[in-house]
Amino acid sequence: MLHPVICIDGPAASGKSTVARLVAHDLHYVYVDTGAMYRAFTFLTLEAGHDPSSRSRMKQLLEKVDFHAEIAGQEIALRQGKRDLGPHTRLPEVNAAVSPVSALPELREYLVNLQRKLRLSAPLVMEGRDIGTVVCSDSPFKYFIDACPTVRAERRKKQGEKDNLAARDKLDSSRSAAPLLRAADAQLLDSGKNDARSLADQIVRDVRTRSTRSTPAPTVP
Ligand code: C5P
Repeated sequence: MLHPVICIDGPAASGKSTVARLVAHDLHYVYVDTGAMYRAFTFLTLEAGHDPSSRSRMKQLLEKVDFHAEIAGQEIALRQGKRDLGPHTRLPEVNAAVSPVSALPELREYLVNLQRKLRLSAPLVMEGRDIGTVVCSDSPFKYFIDACPTVRAERRKKQGEKDNLAARDKLDSSRSAAPLLRAADAQLLDSGKNDARSLADQIVRDVRTRSTRSTPAPTVP
């Protein structure tokens, strides 16, 4: 059985992770950060000394890598063998190389398959760039979170992370494989004008209202 999935997409530092975590917590769904998966493979690519834009090197890596994405509580743990890849995903060198690595079609195919399989295990709040357009395009629950570039850059600065958002946005939006795009049926939410808590409340309300409406009324015996 395929469990429901709430799709949350948006550009870097749009605040979508904070909102997605709150929604997952409120609904007791599992939170899936697909950006962390692309980041984990960027780390493995750099660690192996591979060129981040080499398709053949990525193919080699995918053929032998022992990669797992497992549900751990209300989140996903990313492992290579027994090694936890989580702590390696936010390094400055990973920020700098993640967009070219994510544009490789071999990696996208591998991760999209893995992300879709997670729906067999639990209800999900999945966030990323192509969740509503590609990964779970059949979901009725799609949200696109955005804010103006100044607000997003300020947010990253406060987080103390070195990250060239403009360069990442440009590469993510212009690549041919699954570019960053708002699905036509995704609700647009502005995280510059509303805080994360109020956006999460809005999503939870919307999901609850529409789920109740689509549940068939119980038949009276
Ligand atoms: O969400 P986050 O900023 O951590 O994502 C890191 C990078 O991973 C993005 O800039 C993008 O290149 C890639 N990504 C993607 N598709 C997703 C999630 C992330 O291409 N579904």
